[in-house]
Formats: sequence, structure tokens, C-alpha cells
Amino acid sequence: MAAHLIDGKVLSQTVRDQIAKQTAELLARSGIKPGLAAVLVGDDPASHLYVKNKEKACEAVGIYVADHKLPASTTQNELMALIDKLNRDAQIHGILVQLPLPKQIDSKVVLDLVSPDKDADGFHPYNIGRLVEGHPVFEACTPKGVIKMIESTGVGIEGKRAVVVGRSNIVGKPVALMLLHRNATVTVCHSKTKDLPAVCRSAEILVVAIGKARFVTADMVSDGAVVVDVGVNRTADGKFVGDVDFEPVSQKAAWISPVPGGVGPMTIAMLLQNTLESAQRAAGKGGH
Ligand code: NDP
Repeated sequence: MAAHLIDGKVLSQTVRDQIAKQTAELLARSGIKPGLAAVLVGDDPASHLYVKNKEKACEAVGIYVADHKLPASTTQNELMALIDKLNRDAQIHGILVQLPLPKQIDSKVVLDLVSPDKDADGFHPYNIGRLVEGHPVFEACTPKGVIKMIESTGVGIEGKRAVVVGRSNIVGKPVALMLLHRNATVTVCHSKTKDLPAVCRSAEILVVAIGKARFVTADMVSDGAVVVDVGVNRTADGKFVGDVDFEPVSQKAAWISPVPGGVGPMTIAMLLQNTLESAQRAAGKGGH
């Protein structure tokens, strides 16, 4: 393999160590312990596993977790009443609503009800607007992690040709905005993009978030590119692979992130970071 690995496990551990230190300092200085409310509705096993991992990661760095597991039959009004309560709970600095929500619940309405001051996932329209303006408060965890991964390579973002494949509200668009604010020249691709391989080959920084196993092949990557693979796909034999064909692409790229062990661990680390930063802001305002 020619490329250097962007190791999300190692990088996220470094971030978590810093968060643990800052959490302890905040508690000693102001008596405030960062708190995250994790709201999970229904029985989806994957969602339960994701939330469990996030809660374990919080506890390991000293973040208080309020665990709210609700039955699949929960009504929209019941969930909204809980969010309203959490918005007013001084011990809570971040609210995580695990998606997907059951069919009877309108996710958009629920996510919009989360206070922009506690929007640890960075999905609220206010926080998206702040990002568009270039004055972010809460930034979505996966895009924020992607940027940290690129920055960790030491390859400067400013002035680079960056290509983002995928334009979802939770990954592609925010990643593109974050790269733009760091002065990259950004192209955003999607399912209607013409001659995607040629556009990808123009990239010095290539971020792929489409959800198609091993879609980006070596002929789509230029020599020396930085490649970050956000995709998580399960193969027929039960293995997890990314959107990038890792082995051949790593012969051409200068830097590449693996799946698993890439963006996933960084996403969790950024959730912790967002919760800590929210508690620090609350401390700055003199409250909890
Ligand atoms: P979405 O399904 O919301 O968006 C996929 C995007 O990819 C769309 O913009 C779509 O284009 C584009 N796309 C699909 N097929 C093609 C194609 N053939 N060529 C070019 N573009 C294409 O996905 P998400 O953004 O939510 O997630 C993307 C991947 O990232 C998934 O595998 C997901 O599991 C993973 N993920 C990983 C996270 C982590 O923590 N590691 C967190 C979040 C997501 P169009 O808009 O035209 O339809």
C-alpha cells in the first residue's frame, strides 16, 4: 500500500483524551458536568447499538448521559413533550435523537424542536444556517470529523481542488461548505453528475459519501490525492466496506481513510466534542 492511513481510531482516541481533560477542567472550574440526552424510539437493533456506543464513549470521558429509551408506539406528542423537557433541563447540554424514528413520527418536526443551543448533532436549520454563513455554532458530527481527518494529514485545504461525492443534508452539503470556508475550490457531485470519474480525477481532496460499496475505483482517483471514505455498506458476507475500493485506490492516493476504523469513530468523538463545547458555552453564560 502506497498511501498513508488516516486512522480514525487513533485520531479519535487523541480527541477523546483531550475531551476527558477539558471535561475534568470544566467541572473543577465551574461545577458543570457536560450532559448528553440520548433519545431512542423503538427496537431497531442497529440504532440500539449506535446509541450504546455513543453512551459508552460519553461516560469514558466524564460526560453525563441521560438515557431515554421509548417504545415503538410512542406518539409524536409524547416525543415532543420529552424534547421540550430536555430543552429546559439545565443538566443537559446536548440532545441526540437517534434516527430513524418510527413512521408515526415526523422526524423533521422533532429535530426542529430540539433547542439550537443543545443541537449536538448539528441538524437544526439554525445551525445549518450558521454554517452557511461561515459562523458555525454546532457543526454536524460526521462532516466535522471528516475535516479533522483531512487536517490531520498536514495537507493544507486552502487552494486545493476538493470534490465531494454525495449531497445529503447530513454529510455531503455540510462537508462541502466546511471545505469552502477553508478556502478549497469545491465541486459537489451527485447521481446526475456527468462523467463522475473525470470530476473525481480532478480532486486533490476527495470525500465520498454515497452509500454504494466500493463505488470509487482506482481509475477515478488521481495520484497523491487525499481520500476520505464516509460510506458504510454491508456486503453479502456480512462485512462492512466503504464507498471506495480501498486496496487499489490506496496504491494511488497519498492518504486514505479505512472503513471500518475511519470516519465512524471520528463521528462519535465529534458528538462528545459538541457536547463539551455546549457545556463550555453554558459555563461562559454563567449558567449550567
Ligand atoms: P444519502 O442516501 O442521504 O445521500 C447519498 C448521496 O449520494 C445523494 O446525494 C446521492 O445523489 C448520491 N449518490 C448516490 N448514488 C450516486 C452515484 N452513483 N453517483 C454519484 N452520487 C450518487 O446518504 P448519506 O449522505 O446519509 O450517507 C452516505 C453514506 O455515508 C452512507 O453509506 C452512510 O451509511 C454513510 N454515513 C456514515 C456515517 C459515519 O458516521 N461513518 C454517518 C452518516 C452517513 P442524489 O442527491 O442525486 O440522489
